[in-house]
Amino acid sequence: MSTTFSQCSKCHSLNKVATDLATQKEPVCGKCGSKLSIHGLVSDVNTNNFKKILDKAEGPVIVDFWASWCGPCRAYGPEYEKASLQNKHAVFLKLNTETEQEISAKLGIRGIPCTILFKNGKEVRRQSGAMSAEQVQLFLNQ
Ligand SMILES: [Zn+2]
Repeated sequence: MSTTFSQCSKCHSLNKVATDLATQKEPVCGKCGSKLSIHGLVSDVNTNNFKKILDKAEGPVIVDFWASWCGPCRAYGPEYEKASLQNKHAVFLKLNTETEQEISAKLGIRGIPCTILFKNGKEVRRQSGAMSAEQVQLFLNQ
């Protein structure tokens, strides 16, 4: 059974969630009982939880670095979500570069959206600009 991670929007704790549960029912936070917000199988995370997930994840971790003011980022969102449902072996994350500026500086992200693939905690490739769900699939599995 595949699993993913979800950050609670209320208490910010990190939850491990079975993907079947995430797509069929609304999962709740193990700590505070709030509903977890997962879009498709994409979870919003802060830098702290992003680092924890890189340590814990057994499979690939794919991250969309975005911002709310960025038109192409908003257009990319639904395609990225679609790809998450088609690739349950990977953990799909979104990281907001407006609120998490330090990590984007550290990773040298210049333009957004920027998608980065991590395996065993290390970056293996990155792609600038919006992609279709099919392109995300290729990016992930090539
Ligand atoms: Zn919580």
